[in-house]
Amino acid sequence: MSRIVQKFGGSSVADADSIKRVARRIADTKAAGNEVVIVISAMGDTTDELLDLAHRVSPNPTPRELDMLLTTGERQSAALLAMALSDLGVPARSYTGSQAGVITTGQHGDARIIDITPGRIMASLEQGNVVIVAGFQGVAQDTKDITTLGRGASDTTAVALAAAMRADYCEIYTDVDGVFTADPRIEPKARQIPVIGYEDMLELAASGAKVLHLRCVEYARAENVKIHVRSSFSYQPGTWVVDQSEINAKGSAMEQAIISGIAHDTSEAKITVVGVPDTIGMAARIFSVIAERQINVDMIVQNVSREGEGRTDISFTCSQGERGKAVDALNLAKDEIGFSAVMWNDAVGKVSVVGVGMRTHPGVTAKFFNALAAAGVNIDMISTSEIRISVVVDIADVRAAVQAAHTAFGLDADTDAVVYAGTGR
Ligand code: ADP
Ligand code: ASP
Ligand code: MG
Repeated sequence: MSRIVQKFGGSSVADADSIKRVARRIADTKAAGNEVVIVISAMGDTTDELLDLAHRVSPNPTPRELDMLLTTGERQSAALLAMALSDLGVPARSYTGSQAGVITTGQHGDARIIDITPGRIMASLEQGNVVIVAGFQGVAQDTKDITTLGRGASDTTAVALAAAMRADYCEIYTDVDGVFTADPRIEPKARQIPVIGYEDMLELAASGAKVLHLRCVEYARAENVKIHVRSSFSYQPGTWVVDQSEINAKGSAMEQAIISGIAHDTSEAKITVVGVPDTIGMAARIFSVIAERQINVDMIVQNVSREGEGRTDISFTCSQGERGKAVDALNLAKDEIGFSAVMWNDAVGKVSVVGVGMRTHPGVTAKFFNALAAAGVNIDMISTSEIRISVVVDIADVRAAVQAAHTAFGLDADTDAVVYAGTGR
């Protein structure tokens, strides 16, 4: 008997029939003698629709109330799934994040899990129930208000519960057969990866591969939780996310690829501070203004300014959600710092090549940039880490850039990848 945490994403429970289909699958896992804990996402695009609704009611919804609203999506699907399981003769109980003991910080919309006190759901599991937990939510330790953990964070709920309940492994069911060498919606020749190390997966997730939520991978690495990413629409084996040492131990037959995959991210904005006096301490002042507003900066580039001698332009990227706040803050500091203007652009995309193998292989950057040049893609910004090279390009070039890099690094599969469902929203 195993204890398994299974998470089903929104596209797997998009309508009543899908919920019944998922219930049958869960019933099979339970009938095979396993203890089953389910983490469920909101149906289909419910979270986006609730967000749209909130913004139609209020241009700036209060974060506390937004969390009250958004968490209802997961509560619906959890209750519906419990009903479907009961009809199959499988005892099941649904729980909100709060009831399941998911204790978080108080930062609405982006709360962190501080602790999980799974007493209640453990007791329920021991009574023979399938335990169903509403994903992506918890309760703030201080205020006892309901919080959400960030978009896509049901994955994180699942891995955190798997760690707290000492599950044998955590299965993430989605609308593709696993983790691929690129988003199959962008690169049909993407190849499924049978097994990937936490480090590569972390970098892919951080670079925009939304198949797994970044913090879920961080959690899995810290707590050594094995993740199996697979499709709820097929019975194909998926992708195992495990410690690199386990992959290495399998021997030379599985020689480490230099590049594990190509990720893309179209959720960032580029901001340019024009005509900054080229004197000591200016960058510090600009980024202090940004830091005071708790805005995370990703890439930074400094160029000679067209504004004339002794002036530079400083460009950086941040999330589109924080772009307005950043531009407003900079404009307030404009006269004091002495630059001439702030410009911004949401029509950009970041494309990254990722692989722990690049540590020991020179020439990856040249190959990537040559591929982009041959595809006629202009590079706007560049950043690198030990195991990643990222470029910012025009949004219209993202697909071409991903495909060019994918081919250049020999990742193309012979057959097209299958995308079973979902709107890609
Ligand atoms: P869910 O609703 O199940 O959480 P998501 O939409 O969050 O599903 O994540 C699955 C999607 O992630 C896929 O449909 C795919 O378009 C996208 N994706 C991005 N990068 C990758 C990748 N490297 N491998 C697989 N899927 C990816
Ligand atoms: N429903 C939430 C979202 O769409 C959480 C999740 O699906 O993981 O972001
Ligand atoms: Mg997801």
